[in-house]
Amino acid sequence: MGLFGRVIVGMMPLTPRFIIRWIAKRYVAGTDIPSAIELMSRMSSEGACFTVDVLGEDIESLDEAQFFMDEYSRLLDAIVENNLDANISIKPTALGLLIDESTALANIEELLIRAAEDDIFVRLDMEDHRVTQATIDTAIAMHTKGLTNIGVVLQGRLFRTLSDILEVSSVTGSSTDFRICKGIYLESAEISHTRYREIVDATNRSIDLMLDSGAYTAIASHDTPVIKHSLESLKSRGMGPGVEDPRYSEPVPRSAGKGPGYEFQFLLGVRGNIRRNLAKQGHRTRVYVPYGTKWYEYSMRRLRENPEVALHVAKALLMPWSNRR
Ligand code: FAD
Repeated sequence: MGLFGRVIVGMMPLTPRFIIRWIAKRYVAGTDIPSAIELMSRMSSEGACFTVDVLGEDIESLDEAQFFMDEYSRLLDAIVENNLDANISIKPTALGLLIDESTALANIEELLIRAAEDDIFVRLDMEDHRVTQATIDTAIAMHTKGLTNIGVVLQGRLFRTLSDILEVSSVTGSSTDFRICKGIYLESAEISHTRYREIVDATNRSIDLMLDSGAYTAIASHDTPVIKHSLESLKSRGMGPGVEDPRYSEPVPRSAGKGPGYEFQFLLGVRGNIRRNLAKQGHRTRVYVPYGTKWYEYSMRRLRENPEVALHVAKALLMPWSNRR
């Protein structure tokens, strides 16, 4: 991180909360379910669909996990009541993965069953290296129980990702559903690529392997070289808007709202212009919508984890007109 980024990160704890709230409002739907519903209803006209995340992770007691269980249950009801094209993203540590793995598994199973009643897909967000294997194991365990409305996120920057793609696909077959991103956590050079170009190349290799392994591939990047590479890879495989997934002779049963074997995903508030362009070209585009009372902790943690975000914050402060979704 350059000096400018370090200065911004250093200043953040001293910055009044109302300023952080103003910056965060571009990236966070609000503090409660009605705000998230209102935002999604408004954005539906842009041809987007959604994945909703209740902010919070790495809890300290299992009582906190119960809060997330109740909130996700209310959220699922609200998605159905408002007829929204949305699924949910959950952080396994918010459901107890780092406290008691068996309780976390039981919680995730309960949510999956509840979501499956309304044909809603559940994405397990990927957190840092402490839980990579446990998160993958959880998704595989659920598939083994016949609960297939679940998929994991893999992080292009990790060395292990190519072999994870092969391992997961070999167990979950045609119902494999990945989100691929670069990975927000700055992992050590022992387990991950650390340079920009290496991370982009590794992420692109992962996208290709996912497409070649027959997995549903949700490409979650705002970065032009990754999006451009993905579009070329899709085209060379005969995949694209309005085309049945050519990798299968029969349609593969998937949860509602899926694209033809792939989709693009964007964080709320980031590069909406590129997202809208892709949607105009007919690609399935999904917006990741975080909401919750923990917006402050979320913003600060993201900033500490990956100070690159500081530059976007600085831009929002110095060029306020650019702070739009
Ligand atoms: P970058 O090179 O970081 O960004 C490309 C350009 O996008 C930047 O130059 C900038 O113009 C713009 N941009 C990027 N981020 C921001 C921002 N915050 N504010 C304003 N502009 C910005 N990571 C995980 O580790 N686990 C997950 O489960 C996970 N889920 C994700 C889900 C979605 C839908 C998305 C889009 C990302 C997710 N990520 C996750 C984060 C991801 O790993 C990257 O850290 C993040 O997307 C930045 O990488 P990038 O590929 O977009 O490229």
